[in-house]
Amino acid sequence: MAVSIFEVMSGLARQHGAINLGQGFPDFGWPDALLARAADAIVSGPNQYPPMRGLQPLREAVARWYARRQGLGLAPEGVLITNGASEALAAAILALVRPGDTVSYFAPAYDLYRPMILRAGGIPRAVRLCAPDWALSDASLAQAFADPAPRLVIVNSPHNPAAVVWGKATLARLAAACAAAGAYALSDEVWEEVTFTDARFPSLLAQPGMAERCVKVGSGGKMFALTGWKVGWAVGAPELIDEVAAVKQYLGFTTPPATQAALAWALDGEGKRWVADAAAGFRSGHDVLSEALAAEGFAVLPSEGTYFLSVDLAASGVCEPDRAFARRAVAEHGVAAIPVSPFYPDNPDETVLRLCFAKSADTLTEAARRLGAALRAGSR
Ligand code: PMP
Repeated sequence: MAVSIFEVMSGLARQHGAINLGQGFPDFGWPDALLARAADAIVSGPNQYPPMRGLQPLREAVARWYARRQGLGLAPEGVLITNGASEALAAAILALVRPGDTVSYFAPAYDLYRPMILRAGGIPRAVRLCAPDWALSDASLAQAFADPAPRLVIVNSPHNPAAVVWGKATLARLAAACAAAGAYALSDEVWEEVTFTDARFPSLLAQPGMAERCVKVGSGGKMFALTGWKVGWAVGAPELIDEVAAVKQYLGFTTPPATQAALAWALDGEGKRWVADAAAGFRSGHDVLSEALAAEGFAVLPSEGTYFLSVDLAASGVCEPDRAFARRAVAEHGVAAIPVSPFYPDNPDETVLRLCFAKSADTLTEAARRLGAALRAGSR
């Protein structure tokens, strides 16, 4: 497997002492009370292996959270706690994909999907989405479900790196197509609490016909701006979650108990207010970066969620592809970003650059100034 673009760009950021707007971690947004709760849980214990499927209070709190926030009717047996959303995604793919199965997903795509599909013996089918709106056209939907019908379709909304949130109408089309094809769906919804649209976040799992065939993946680390905690979950029908749990036994097996206990407390307590406050902070980071980049002459693409926005380099007058621009920006101008090209399987030369705005206003303003200098140095 190749070294991921996140590792490459973070390594270059360290080497050049650059501002890192590449990898998506925030420098604010977490509640201090949650840190204190986790510290207490470490000191008071237990600190031995917890149940493989996760602490019961957390499984119940996750089910209650999704009932309140998204109208989902989950049983605690339908909640599996994992080591980050990453382990949930890997276990679900390994559980649901058999050698020779076709697996459709939409590119640009989060970089974990394709290597895991290949490791499971599946045949990946990448369906291309295009800037600026990254919409699911009828042609793209038809391609995803073309013969041979996929065994599994992987969906990601809010989308990383495109930062689009697919609405109910799009999800309903996907759900109907999955049901007609007899396909399972894996819905990566880790950014569900980091959205900037006023509409209530629609989960694919809530769409008609999805309860029996969709595994939804979430991330406590993303929810509470504590990306290093690596507590996530897979939720859905208990029979499907049993299959995913059977694989998780041989990946991480268990997940550290103290952070699980603290998250259970947060979800049932102040969680709703904390995620809303954090999202407001990220929205203002978005506005600062977007306005500063526009003032430097960048064509900024809209962001409906996640910690990211993108700029279209070609539309900004740059005559080099995103990878080349990103390497020049980090080495010569001291700012790291993520080129979107590696999120496509054929590794094309795209011209879209992803930037993380979950940083302080000063950091974002300085980064935009440096990117402006890189833009002028590389303009047509
Ligand atoms: N899916 C997507 C779309 C993501 O952006 C990320 C994290 N960047 C993950 C999964 C992994 O989440 P976790 O850190 O909880 O493993």
